[in-house]
Amino acid sequence: MKTDHPGGCLCGAVRYRATGASINDRICHCHLCQKALGASFNARMLFKIDNVAIEGPVAYINSSEGLKRGFCPKCGSTLFSRRESVGVMGITVGSLDDPSVFKPQMHIYVASKQPWVKIDDGLPQYDGPPPA
Ligand SMILES: [Zn+2]
Ligand SMILES: [Zn+2]
Repeated sequence: MKTDHPGGCLCGAVRYRATGASINDRICHCHLCQKALGASFNARMLFKIDNVAIEGPVAYINSSEGLKRGFCPKCGSTLFSRRESVGVMGITVGSLDDPSVFKPQMHIYVASKQPWVKIDDGLPQYDGPPPA
């Protein structure tokens, strides 16, 4: 398994490197992810904040009380979803240099998925957050 995950934004101003295995790999269909990414869903890998080294400017905005979305202030690529209370950070799979490392385990917030999205990968689906 690869344990070194470099990536960055569209314009190259922000580069990052996540090391170690991801905590989990999930696809989130919630409205906030759709808005933040301007996409139909958010495929993301979760890492400990301490395991992600970032170079370049990152702007953050709170999309909810505990969650900060990080993006490149120059090109707007959405890169991170940072939850400091538990020390973890999601990384958008599309911003990875090698997105093939993503091994999705489940779909969450499926109740708000876009209607055209048909899920036929056999993975567990949860209407809201994953079970604790
Ligand atoms: Zn950029
Ligand atoms: Zn979401």
